[in-house]
Amino acid sequence: MHVVVIGAGAAGLMAAMEAARNSATVVLLEKNNKTGVKILMSGGTRCNLTHNTDARGIAKAFGHAKRFLQPSLGALPPQAVVELFQSAGVATKVESTGKIFPVSNRAVQVRDALHRLAVEAGVDIRTGTGVNKIRRMETGWLLETDQSAINADRIIVTTGGKSWPGCGTTGDAYDWMTELGHTIIRPRPALVPLVGGESWMQELSGLVVDDSIATVLPVSGKQKPLTQRRGSLLFTHFGFSGPAAMDVSGAMTAVDSFDRVRLIVDLVPQYPEEEVLAALSNRHDGGRLKVSSVLSMWLPNRLANGLVTQLGHDPKIAELPKNSRIKLIQQLKGIQLPVHGTRGFDKAEVTAGGVRLDEVDPRTMESRIHKGLFIAGELLDVEGPIGGYNFQAAFSTGRAAGIAAAAPKDKLCQLDV
Ligand SMILES: Cc1cc2nc3c(=O)[nH]c(=O)nc-3n(C[C@H](O)[C@H](O)[C@H](O)COP(=O)(O)OP(=O)(O)OC[C@H]3O[C@@H](n4cnc5c(N)ncnc54)[C@H](O)[C@@H]3O)c2cc1C
Repeated sequence: MHVVVIGAGAAGLMAAMEAARNSATVVLLEKNNKTGVKILMSGGTRCNLTHNTDARGIAKAFGHAKRFLQPSLGALPPQAVVELFQSAGVATKVESTGKIFPVSNRAVQVRDALHRLAVEAGVDIRTGTGVNKIRRMETGWLLETDQSAINADRIIVTTGGKSWPGCGTTGDAYDWMTELGHTIIRPRPALVPLVGGESWMQELSGLVVDDSIATVLPVSGKQKPLTQRRGSLLFTHFGFSGPAAMDVSGAMTAVDSFDRVRLIVDLVPQYPEEEVLAALSNRHDGGRLKVSSVLSMWLPNRLANGLVTQLGHDPKIAELPKNSRIKLIQQLKGIQLPVHGTRGFDKAEVTAGGVRLDEVDPRTMESRIHKGLFIAGELLDVEGPIGGYNFQAAFSTGRAAGIAAAAPKDKLCQLDV
């Protein structure tokens, strides 16, 4: 079987390696001059390669894609990814957040190991080779690159999404897939910093709230949260970043206008509302403390002062009017952060949307529209949270595609679950 893989990211390297290990002749085409560019820059160049959970835990974090991902994740769960890298000389560690990194904190180790495993399996890696067009032939496929045309019995498309386009991910395959009859769910930025804020929040640039709960609510209809995420929140000169803001960003870009959703943040999730109310009432210290002093026990000073400034005065707790107390509690337990945009694909860690999942077999990643076309990684309509989930999905779907694409014709491909 002659298999050509397009795109040497996490999914493509894994797919190519598995196809070659399963006796296919494999060519891996990459438009960049090196493989795994996003692996190299990931996790602040430390590469958070997976998460300390099981296949179910990963699948659950993918929302609508949960069921689609289950078979491939079951066949290559996080533990198997860790073992794969460990056997390739990349020792890993679990951090307190559950994120798994190489012990060396060097993403290049992860990329080098994957690249080496692919070469050792016999993959012919051709960097600096961008694919411009793919054509369905009577038997197999014809790929046009800048340099030549390449034939393949089967192709695996792992060109990623369209975020961080400087990495080579410019969404080339969306047009190819559309021409082949696939549906592309609107690609949109996700895990992306949010643009917005009020003028007084400009002062907060660089400030981190270590623990917060960000909730996205629809403006109209049922007030059921669209998503919720607990984590740190970073105020920036343009708006909001950090895991809490970035993880909920996909739910905000999913709607057609930011006017239709609200971002509400609990700034003190570790303190229940009754406790906040008690501290802001006349019950402790005879109410002698100033409001700003109480807030500073929970929040960074700059934010505490900002909230008090919004109140218009900084009285002692004993002198805090009831309406000001109610307003403060509302701000602490559910401040509304105005959002009117994102930093766009340029700064989005992933692209949500992509090839519609019911058009792809979840066990093999083979297109249900064209035999011999396999699709894996971020090009699919999958989007996970921060924490190693996205690489895990890329590895698992890539492996499934590689094994299936190498299988002899007309043989039902069974994943090794
Ligand atoms: C700054 C940043 C940090 C991140 N950190 C993490 C992290 O720590 N953990 C995590 O789980 N996820 C992280 N992610 C997300 C993760 O990088 C992606 O989800 C993952 O790389 C997707 O893998 P993929 O193989 O599907 O696509 P990609 O890794 O994007 O690979 C696609 C490849 O295809 C190539 N290509 C595209 N078009 C063509 C063409 N026409 N011809 C030939 N080649 C082509 C591209 O050059 C690219 O190399 C991060 C993303 C960014 C941007």
